[in-house]
Amino acid sequence: MKLNTQSFALNLKHNKRAITIFPQLLILVFIVLLSDVTNAQSDSAVFAWPEGKRAAVSLSFDDARESQVISGTPLLDQYGVKATFYVVPSTMEKQLDGWKKAVTNGHEIGNHTLTHPCTGNFSWSRNNALEDYTLKQIRNELKECNKRIRELLNVKAEVFAYPCGQKFVGKGINTKSYVPLVAEMFIAGRGWMDEAANDPVYCNFAQLTAIEMDGKDFDQILPLLKEAKKTGQWLVLAGHEMGEPGFQTTRLVMLKKLIEYAQDPSNGIWIKPVGTVARYIQEHKD
Ligand SMILES: [Zn+2]
Repeated sequence: MKLNTQSFALNLKHNKRAITIFPQLLILVFIVLLSDVTNAQSDSAVFAWPEGKRAAVSLSFDDARESQVISGTPLLDQYGVKATFYVVPSTMEKQLDGWKKAVTNGHEIGNHTLTHPCTGNFSWSRNNALEDYTLKQIRNELKECNKRIRELLNVKAEVFAYPCGQKFVGKGINTKSYVPLVAEMFIAGRGWMDEAANDPVYCNFAQLTAIEMDGKDFDQILPLLKEAKKTGQWLVLAGHEMGEPGFQTTRLVMLKKLIEYAQDPSNGIWIKPVGTVARYIQEHKD
């Protein structure tokens, strides 16, 4: 009898503990299940690039610098890689035949405004400063540039790059963003000197980020490519001159290594112009 009472007391103690442990266990199971759901959600958010590729890379160059069609496009053509060139028509005219050839060979031509207005903090832009612009004036810049590109090359510019990466007009309380204008007129607008690549599911196409490739060696670009592969990003690289090391110059030696890396099927990189990638995402996002 004494033994029975003892075992009853023991059972009761056990049950009591079980009762107090049970809700804690329940919470733990709930947390584990929840984290599984969250992981599944973030996994499903990774964008499916074509042909099973893991990331996209776009090469882009600004201002229609002469070296782009003298040294740059011949190298790209050798590898069959198409890039995006954001042109200022008056500069483009200096090498018009080279630009016509670039179009024939499948490179994309984008709008980079008619007169390249930037902040007046740059002394060279003081007389054509964004601070003195209105939205109406900047709209005219974009429209006239498109018109000129069509006249000179017979192409419709569908993509845009903000000169100096600056996206405003006006000053103080009158400052206005011209991003909505770019969203209205183009399928994509590219910035400059950003720190992150684009998340294809999340990004604002009128404000795509761009990472500078001027002055860099391949070992400085490689970590960006690896990161893009890991996270399924779209890396837009931006440069100016194309040639031997120099001021605002994308080095051809670096470019060669980058292209060879991107074209190695085991690296899973989709290397296409900005407009091609933007259109692909817009058509396959949902
Ligand atoms: Zn520029």
